[in-house]
Amino acid sequence: MFNFEFYNPTKIVFGTDTIAKLDQLVPADARVLILLGGESARKNGTLAEVRAALGAREVHEFNGIEPNPSYETLMGAVELIRKEKLDYLLAVGGGSVIDGTKFVAAAVPFDGEPWDILITHGRNVKAAMPFGTVLTLPATGSEMNEGSVITRKATHSKLAFMSAHVFPQFSILDPTKTLTLPTRQIANGVVDAYVHTIEQYLTYPANGMVQDRFAEGLLLSLIEIGPKVLANPNDYDLRANLMWVATQALNGLIGAGVPQDWSTHMLGHELTALYDIDHARTLAIVLPASLNVRREGKRAKLLQYAERVWNITEGTDDARIDAAIAKTAAFFEAMGIQTRLSDYDLATEAVDAVVNQLEKHGMTQLGEGQDVDLNVSRQILTAAL
Ligand code: NAP
Ligand code: FE
Repeated sequence: MFNFEFYNPTKIVFGTDTIAKLDQLVPADARVLILLGGESARKNGTLAEVRAALGAREVHEFNGIEPNPSYETLMGAVELIRKEKLDYLLAVGGGSVIDGTKFVAAAVPFDGEPWDILITHGRNVKAAMPFGTVLTLPATGSEMNEGSVITRKATHSKLAFMSAHVFPQFSILDPTKTLTLPTRQIANGVVDAYVHTIEQYLTYPANGMVQDRFAEGLLLSLIEIGPKVLANPNDYDLRANLMWVATQALNGLIGAGVPQDWSTHMLGHELTALYDIDHARTLAIVLPASLNVRREGKRAKLLQYAERVWNITEGTDDARIDAAIAKTAAFFEAMGIQTRLSDYDLATEAVDAVVNQLEKHGMTQLGEGQDVDLNVSRQILTAAL
């Protein structure tokens, strides 16, 4: 196992009727900005509950953070906060609203052009405003991590930043608030959480024994819960379990002390930025192809994954690896998520376009071995056609 530091200061408040606890979680004298996506939190009553819990505090709203939150939109919130001298942020929504809030939190006190936060991937963040979240979509883990992904529409750039300053102070996870999610977003959440786990597990062996077993537990849980939650959309326990699995898939714990890949995410970000494909869908396209192309470097863990997650024990090493990759793609397809570029009407021009963007964004040494150069990325994308 590698040396590591593990730090996660986010307090989780989990369960039904927990939004009322905002009254204790947000400072009594806070001047609050609630950040929201489109209409969902207003329509399903979450926003009304949040406002009621905040009581007499001064509360402003910033609406319209879009899926794949944009720098262009978020700078409007930065301006509003500076003008109204607001001092506390509350994200109410999914990963996009939370990621957007993290950017805003870091941008307000930032000295200089805030896009530089993305260019340096967060290394230049020295401070951020305090904020909490009310999560409405289990998927990203953003509610309990220090990462954020922001798009600059003008240049089709979707870049990530990390900073310990942007851990949420608290996150409220009320599974009943996820009951209004459309099937497509439930499926996206399952696949995003699955791929987060894989990015931290399916690398090369580093003897992270408990990390491996924990990751396998998350993968097995998602394989069990995913189809059930689609078939039983009103089942509270399924929603609760999905919510807690997705949080744990990316809160730092399973990735501590072990290699991490993240190349599937980096290729996926380019596909979203260029073609506006949902984040999870881009991952479902890239991952099976990537495992196939990179099977030598990942051989030992692929065999472990085949056996422990998919119970595949028969056949040659390569046959077992093939079967595990096929099972992975079939799981995504069973969640209603297609796994080939051609399913999204993309052909070889898209491969060239993504490779160009990867080069532009300096994504030329990706993966746990930094061996996913532009040539390997091209092979992966071609295998995904
Ligand atoms: P999202 O983009 O936040 O939301 C997708 C859609 O779901 C929105 O249209 C939203 O509608 C709707 N929605 C949310 N909650 C709902 C509810 N309870 N009922 C009905 N509709 C609801 O989706 P996401 O998958 O959570 O976030 C994706 C973003 O996170 C991507 O940009 C991705 O790159 C990023 N990401 C971040 C991390 C990280 O660690 N920070 C990790 C992976 C991915 P409204 O807009 O109307 O609310
Ligand atoms: Fe993700």
